[in-house]
Amino acid sequence: MKITDFTGIFSRTSLTIDSIDNPHDDYYVITFDYPEGLTWDPGEHGIFTLPGKKVKGRSFRIFSVASSPSENKLLIATHANEPVSGFKQALFSLSKGDKVNMVGPFGWYKVKDATSPVVLIAAGIGITANRAMIKQLEHDTRRDVFLVYSSSDTHLFKEELDRIALSNPKFRPFYTTGRDQTRETYLKLAENLGNDATYYVAGKPKSVKDISKRLRENNINFTHIVFDYYLGY
Ligand SMILES: Cc1cc2nc3c(=O)[nH]c(=O)nc-3n(C[C@H](O)[C@H](O)[C@H](O)COP(=O)(O)OP(=O)(O)OC[C@H]3O[C@@H](n4cnc5c(N)ncnc54)[C@H](O)[C@@H]3O)c2cc1C
Repeated sequence: MKITDFTGIFSRTSLTIDSIDNPHDDYYVITFDYPEGLTWDPGEHGIFTLPGKKVKGRSFRIFSVASSPSENKLLIATHANEPVSGFKQALFSLSKGDKVNMVGPFGWYKVKDATSPVVLIAAGIGITANRAMIKQLEHDTRRDVFLVYSSSDTHLFKEELDRIALSNPKFRPFYTTGRDQTRETYLKLAENLGNDATYYVAGKPKSVKDISKRLRENNINFTHIVFDYYLGY
């Protein structure tokens, strides 16, 4: 973590909604118009509030930005766990043209260097920050990028990730559904790549903690693991 990872905390932006999509089950993808002049490192997150909306309960949520600035849009994605919170009910009721405020983006979860192999491990909705990093590395054919994406239900963005894998053979996604299959997949990568790679782990805190512990038990040095705990889940 560096001080520069937090400079974005001083940035406040009024975002304009372009669309709110509900592509699968309880998953929502919210697209904002590209905020002119704003940039961010893929993997960073922002603090979102809903101006002028009465929100039952906590009035803000943190979401990772799921897009890279090169896409000319700002995306977030979330899962509406039952019971759907007051914040998410208010968020999903918005429409095109409505405003959402964001502090950031900022954060430490980002690609650390230009050459070493990248192993992205997404626990469920942890795909959001990882999607942004995959879009950043989409055309990078110099190094291997692996994605281990675990979800017990839907693999959000799967079609798009498969398209990227077709056009860049250096990008290899693995979709897993259970804890054992997920563990087996990332530990196999750890065995093959060892400390030559950097491991990025994002998602629910319990899963991130467990994955990080297993990686360390399998000889991956702490300095080669970057975490993003989605606190609040
Ligand atoms: C760095 C970072 C990045 C993040 N990125 C993302 C992201 O990209 N996408 C994302 O979706 N989230 C992300 N989060 C988490 C996000 O900020 C929220 O905490 C999360 O989405 C849950 O919010 P919620 O409004 O659904 O649930 P909350 O209202 O905050 O409740 C938390 C949990 O308790 C459960 N709950 C609440 N009330 C009850 C009740 N009465 N009975 C039973 N269960 C209940 C909810 O179902 C939920 O699972 C991130 C967090 C951090 C710190």
